[in-house]
Amino acid sequence: MRITFYGAAGSVTGSMHLVEFDGRRILLDCGLHQGHRSESDALNRDPGLDAASVDSIVLSHAHIDHSGSIPAFVRRGFAGSIHSTSATRDLCALMLADSARIQEGDLQFLNKKRRARNEPELEPVYTPADAAKAMQFFHTSPYYSTVEVSPGITARFIEAGHILGSAQIELTLTRGGRRTVLLYSGDLGRPAMPILKDPDLGASRPDILLMESTYGARRHESGGDAVKKLRNTIRETAANDGRVIIPAFSVGRTQEILYYLRLLRANGSVPRVPVFVDSPMALDATSIFRLHPECFDEEALEAVQGGESPFSFDGLHFLQSVAESRALNDMKGPSVVISASGMCEHGRILHHLRHGVTNPANTILIVGFMARNTLGRAIADGAGTVKIFGEKRDMKASVVTIDGFSAHADSEGLFEYASTAGASASRIVLVHGEEEQSGALSERLGGAGFACTVPSRTETLVVDAGD
Ligand SMILES: [Zn+2]
Ligand SMILES: [Zn+2]
Repeated sequence: MRITFYGAAGSVTGSMHLVEFDGRRILLDCGLHQGHRSESDALNRDPGLDAASVDSIVLSHAHIDHSGSIPAFVRRGFAGSIHSTSATRDLCALMLADSARIQEGDLQFLNKKRRARNEPELEPVYTPADAAKAMQFFHTSPYYSTVEVSPGITARFIEAGHILGSAQIELTLTRGGRRTVLLYSGDLGRPAMPILKDPDLGASRPDILLMESTYGARRHESGGDAVKKLRNTIRETAANDGRVIIPAFSVGRTQEILYYLRLLRANGSVPRVPVFVDSPMALDATSIFRLHPECFDEEALEAVQGGESPFSFDGLHFLQSVAESRALNDMKGPSVVISASGMCEHGRILHHLRHGVTNPANTILIVGFMARNTLGRAIADGAGTVKIFGEKRDMKASVVTIDGFSAHADSEGLFEYASTAGASASRIVLVHGEEEQSGALSERLGGAGFACTVPSRTETLVVDAGD
């Protein structure tokens, strides 16, 4: 067996790992590279892999950095099967279409600049039509059932507890009575987080473990502390007659915040101020969550079985039109506004920040990871002034950061996963992490007696598996 790492090797985006066995080519994830624009764009256009030569894609979860290149592969001739859980398929229908629209918008802007410089226009990496076409290649399987993805190769999805539908992928490669098991973590979640089941560490006995290492060197605050901070922020801001503005991704973090708000309001921990979700995709995403109770943990399931939605309560409003979104600017009195994008780079959140940051009664609540060079990062880092739509705004609102809502295992969670799920493995391969994070985890695992590899992009690992 050969494994070649086409993305998320020494970095966190563009997850794409090619497994070659007995003449078959299976791709674990097919993600989009994000960040550093020109470099990512080049890799998204040409990852160095012939799309038509891939037999099947097995997908760990719907996040764009894991699924976002699927339409590009379809555009370039991929016609095999795409295997995933059904919740991942449903989220992909929404997210790949959204990604195609964002790319079209970015490209229009880029081509305008290129025309001005007399440079040839660029083709889109993919279009909404490619995203729609990709959906026909999906085959879904329930968690823990075995599906043949190519002759001699079966896959099994194991709970990863990261986002709705997320799975670890166990590949079993069989030839001449000899079996080799490869376990791929995908992105690994944290135990005791709301809505989703906990990551399952004991379902597989792999020979090789391929795992993420996003937070290989970092500890998170606990989920309980995060909820307390959320409660206090809403209480204090409402007492000042202010607005809590929460930048959040429409899929995952928005539903998690709604879940906690429902509980905090139900037990009287926070005042019942109006809550607005202002992200057009959030309503669709929330409906998809409701369609997949098979992914819920016991508490969320109990709520559903008791006839409640885990994500709705009196005083919650989903805004759809731009007019509704604008009307919010003139609304007086305390409120909570949850809006995308999560890193404040584009979308409706920018309008809420433009109106909200100069009011000292308001609070900007940061609940997710903010990459370097984003407006979200500048706000989180305590910048005195920020630029929004080219205009300088003084930051007078308070800023509170909560990192306890992270959907990723921290350094302790990853170490526990490696030493439990990877106990049978002769080698642990670390992907999906920046150098210092993967390096720290590799060192710690090495110290505990594990053989660890941190591959770089396009490196090939040859594993003896009888082929
Ligand atoms: Zn993810
Ligand atoms: Zn990821």
